[in-house]
Parts: sequence; C-alpha cells; structure tokens
Amino acid sequence: MSKRSASIKGQAELLCRLLRLFYDKDWVSGTGGGICAAKDSKTVLMAPTGVHKEEVKPSDLFIVDRSSGAIVRPPKNRALTVSECNPIFCTIMNRRGAGSVMHSHALSSVLAADLAGKHDDLIIEGLEMLKGVRGVSNQAKHAVPVIQNTPRERELLDQIRLMLENSAYAESFCILVRNHGAYIWGEDLWEAKRHAEIYHFLFEAVVARAGQNPNPG
Ligand SMILES: [Zn+2]
Repeated sequence: MSKRSASIKGQAELLCRLLRLFYDKDWVSGTGGGICAAKDSKTVLMAPTGVHKEEVKPSDLFIVDRSSGAIVRPPKNRALTVSECNPIFCTIMNRRGAGSVMHSHALSSVLAADLAGKHDDLIIEGLEMLKGVRGVSNQAKHAVPVIQNTPRERELLDQIRLMLENSAYAESFCILVRNHGAYIWGEDLWEAKRHAEIYHFLFEAVVARAGQNPNPG
C-alpha cells in the first residue's frame, strides 16, 4: 500500500501492524512503548497505554488534536486510556513536522544511552547504516541527544523540547532517554519504521563495539 493511497482505515491498520512488528522485536514488550501517526493535518491516531501492544486493534485507537493533545474521539472501549506519551508525541510532530513517532523500550536503546556517560549526546560514526537516517551520510558523526529519565513519562517533555530546539541535533530523528528507551520519528509511518530499524541497528552496533573494546584510547 502506498502512503498516499492509504485510507484512514488503512493507516490505523498499518499502525497496529507496526506495533505487532515492534513487539516481535522486543521494542514494545511488557506493555511499554507506543506509536502514533497523523490522521490528517489536525488530528493524530494514537495507541492506548498499559495494554499488550501486540493486541491493539484499529478500534482501540484514540484520535487526538495534534496541537493541544486533547482527545477528539476515544475508542468504544472506555476502559482504555490514551498513551502517556501523548504530549511528547504531539510536541515532536509539531516541532519537527513528523507524521509518525514511535516510543521504544528496547534494551539496546538503554545500553546505547549508557555509552553517552555524562554527555548530552551519543556520537555514532563509522557505520554504513547511518545512510538510512534521512539526510545523513556514512561519513557523519551523527549526534543523538540523550536526556535523563523522570518518574512519569510526561515529565520528560521539558527536556525533549530543549533537545528539539537545539540546532546541534537538527539531523537527529531520535532522542534517547537514559534507563528507559528512545523516541524515534519520521515523516510518515513508513519513515518512522525505517528510522526505528536503523536506529536500533545503530544502538546494537555501538553497544557491541563497546563490548569488543571496553577501554578505547
Ligand atoms: Zn516509556
């Protein structure tokens, strides 16, 4: 299905299909993580929180207002609660023009953030797969911002806003959260999927290299 011909129903089905794919990769296990995608220029399809992500159906999705995060249409199942990532997802979409954002709890993202030490970013270089990030070459020193975890997901928002405004990270489509995971985005669901695959490969690569050479220099 091309992105342009995808109906809203198709968009919701694709979103749920990608959640199952991400679950199979251990990126959204234990009911953690999440995903959203633009429904149109003003509203966003968003998965619920605290549910088994591999079981989410199109009828379980919320429709929220992109600018305010307010719920425009809840799912019929009133027991569901919208993703706690709602304000973060909307902020990334609005400030970066993203059409889709995914939130990963992958172990590789946690271990990659550890490699940043006390720095505000993780520099990734010397990998062909860097070319899979839009606008990035395999010669780049690609800087991925790293923020501190907070007790509640929504409390990450201030740090995320600062990183999105920082021109040093204008080429990054990812923010790592220490001891927690990552937010990864793209212009639509397909680019978010590609970027998720690329960044998780990069996380695994830098962690594996650090294990081969634990005391570089
Ligand atoms: Zn999380």
